[in-house]
Amino acid sequence: MGIDYQLECTTIHTDVLIVGSGPIGAVYARKLVDAGHNVLMVDAGAQETEIPGEHKKNVADMTLNEFSSVIQNDLTPLSPSSSIPGASATLAIGGMSTHWTCVTPTPHPTLEAPKVIPEAQWDSLLVEAQELLNTDSTAFDNSERQNSVKNFLNSSGRNFTSTPIACQKDENGQIIYSSTSSILSHVLNSKKFTLLPSHLCTKIYKQNGSIVSASLTDLSTNTQKTVVAKQYILAAGAVLTPQILHNSGMAKGLPALGRYLTERMVGFCQVKLDKKLSVPGDVNVYEGVKEGKKWVTTINREAHQYGQLPENVDGGDVLDIRCMSPIEPNVENRVEFGEKGSDGMPSPSFTIYSSTADLKLAAKMITEMQSLATTLGSFVTEPRIMPLGTALHLSGTTRAGTSAEDSVVDANSKVWGVENLYLGGCGVIAEGMACQPTLTAVIYALQGVEGVKAGLSH
Ligand SMILES: Cc1cc2nc3c(=O)[nH]c(=O)nc-3n(C[C@H](O)[C@H](O)[C@H](O)COP(=O)(O)OP(=O)(O)OC[C@H]3O[C@@H](n4cnc5c(N)ncnc54)[C@H](O)[C@@H]3O)c2cc1C
Repeated sequence: MGIDYQLECTTIHTDVLIVGSGPIGAVYARKLVDAGHNVLMVDAGAQETEIPGEHKKNVADMTLNEFSSVIQNDLTPLSPSSSIPGASATLAIGGMSTHWTCVTPTPHPTLEAPKVIPEAQWDSLLVEAQELLNTDSTAFDNSERQNSVKNFLNSSGRNFTSTPIACQKDENGQIIYSSTSSILSHVLNSKKFTLLPSHLCTKIYKQNGSIVSASLTDLSTNTQKTVVAKQYILAAGAVLTPQILHNSGMAKGLPALGRYLTERMVGFCQVKLDKKLSVPGDVNVYEGVKEGKKWVTTINREAHQYGQLPENVDGGDVLDIRCMSPIEPNVENRVEFGEKGSDGMPSPSFTIYSSTADLKLAAKMITEMQSLATTLGSFVTEPRIMPLGTALHLSGTTRAGTSAEDSVVDANSKVWGVENLYLGGCGVIAEGMACQPTLTAVIYALQGVEGVKAGLSH
């Protein structure tokens, strides 16, 4: 990495400061370095892999149960006794992309896709986002079981496709999962790019409608640094991005900050496959949202922070069924910030109400998941609704929209009323989506990059 700043100085000057090294910060960084700008990226987390932000599945060969433990250890709960007990952050270079599941479906064009992204740009942004994440829908298609499960389900009127996964195969056919490291790969050694691990951004300072500096705490030395940039991008996650804005005294001018929070209800069960489907291979199939069915279903065997099989159960014929339905946006659903925690930042707490319609949809989803499961085999784990936040797809807290009254950023992810401040991540997604959100957040970031570039050209 070409660090060309005098990092021992307490004030660092750069073109762009990016806070957060998850996949969204990485997309901003890659595009801005490619365009010739100097980018400083900081992250509160440490660098845990030799290549910064590598997916940990690519680094060590582990069983699913072992990888579940990795995920559990890496997640920092944000407010475990609140109404979203599962809400968590991954504080590391690479953020959640160091252990995410890489399911990257396209949102349904009318029921889910962001309304603020101009239709004329949508298709090209989607293609570029898929390229940046290496989204591939064929990774499991050589598997006999993949094809037999898919054909079996679709012969009874379902619409399962191969799951779009952010991954590539190496020359041995081994899957390499995408993460911050793959997004950043060709800019990591650029002299224009610097990545500082263990640097917490505590505040940004606004003067006359522009951000003029940001404060960092170097967590390894407990010293303070100031960054002076032309453009600022906060991509610190759907909870910790609003935390920085709140700590910077900017909540007052942004009434929607932290509000309209959405999350998915997750239904989960595991089945032992019927003998007729028990042919060799892995399965990863997906059914998206359609009219009359606003939930998504993934069938595979995957590691999450839950769903470990008891050691005495042979996992060879077991499949996980995971369904997600949205909690639709509601101004009362929110994250708020209270007393300062041990890191000196205000602690988040959540308030969330599911409407009757949200609950009815989740009940229908569980009933249909049960019927789907019984066509595939017999239960190993009975269907259940997981604690809220289990999806780790919190969204909407810095939503994009058309007015400062009910949104935090405009269609380019620029904060209302601030010239040079952009936000990235699932927080900007305004819609109540069922599908996995990261591809959509990348689309927003690609649109936002154009605004940042325009700002730098003035
Ligand atoms: C187990 C798991 C499975 C998942 N599976 C999928 C999936 O299949 N499909 C999908 O679409 N999504 C999935 N997700 C969600 C996906 O990983 C996130 O949507 C994505 O990582 C968000 O990217 P981001 O860059 O906005 O934020 P993050 O990845 O959360 O990164 C934010 C970064 O900001 C840093 N940060 C926070 N506060 C500060 C601060 N004050 N100063 C400096 N740095 C700070 C954090 O340390 C972190 O590194 C999954 C998540 C998990 C945990």
